[in-house]
Amino acid sequence: MTLHILFSAKAERWSDYETPLRAELDAAGLDYVLDCDMPSDVVDYIIYAPNAEMSDFGKFPRLKAVLNLWAGVEDVVHNETLKVPLARMVDQDGLTQGMVEWVTGHVLRHHLGMDAHIVNPSNTWDCTPPAIASNRPVTVLGLGALGLACAQTLASLGFPVTGWSRSLKDAEGVTCLAGEAGLTKALTAAQIVVLLLPKTPSTENILNAERLALLAPGAFVINPGRGPLIDDNALLAALETGQVAHATLDVFRVEPLPKDHAFWAHPNVTVTPHIASFTRPETAARVIAANIARGEAGEALLHLVDRSAGY
Ligand code: NAP
Repeated sequence: MTLHILFSAKAERWSDYETPLRAELDAAGLDYVLDCDMPSDVVDYIIYAPNAEMSDFGKFPRLKAVLNLWAGVEDVVHNETLKVPLARMVDQDGLTQGMVEWVTGHVLRHHLGMDAHIVNPSNTWDCTPPAIASNRPVTVLGLGALGLACAQTLASLGFPVTGWSRSLKDAEGVTCLAGEAGLTKALTAAQIVVLLLPKTPSTENILNAERLALLAPGAFVINPGRGPLIDDNALLAALETGQVAHATLDVFRVEPLPKDHAFWAHPNVTVTPHIASFTRPETAARVIAANIARGEAGEALLHLVDRSAGY
């Protein structure tokens, strides 16, 4: 039977996704109708971006699954009209690769003190040798699709990397910790912290004043996860005392970050506009087509969201 696949995202995304999705659905050998508009009573799968206008999944009687275009699911996971499996985006070649590059770049910027030479208005000839990675402990909070790839890449560059997650992991080259005591240990004396946790009730404000105080004095905080992971006022206070030397923030409680927010003006905060990584249509289409093919073969979808855990 012909499958009906609804693309439900911002209208302007349809032109980016239509061709790659058709190519990958064809390659998967599926018999399908794909469109951004179709009668709700025929829809089998929804390819979904949480900023789409549609949020009532109850009107699709044949719906088998929702395939989220984003890794983050906080805006859809608690939708009570959604009664079918929800898969999130895990895409090694696009989303993950982009995040690895962004995180590595910002870690190396702070590790090497690159700013001192890029912004050097008085042309100072300062030969202070840069640090070496083996002396720079890095902690990655969240060892999922993105955090683990970042942690292992940083470890491959020689950083002593500690990773923290809900369930204990076993990852080559990374010291893995879990639980409350594990978090304290992971943060204690860390010189660089990268946050790649999802936004859930149990991760909100996880980097608070008490935990910022555990870091090595003059630490760097890099947050490409979600804004609410950090207590903003505690971070500003830690920047004031120098406990945190610099924060590179890609995500915020309110986006776009309001023009009058203290982060914009702060000399030791770098704001990037939620660009750490993107879902790329060509590679994401492959992931989605493969997942729909699994569903049609009677197999469980990959990258299913645990609705009770919230990610
Ligand atoms: P993921 O695969 O679901 O991994 C999440 C990780 O966080 C897992 O290791 C998980 O532990 C851990 N975790 C969740 N709740 C926890 C808790 N309460 N305590 C300790 N650890 C906890 O997610 P992902 O694909 O790596 O993505 C991570 C986040 O990155 C997304 O949710 C999104 O917010 C953000 N993101 C940002 C951008 C950007 O451009 N800035 C782009 C994509 C994604 P377990 O392994 O034990 O489950």
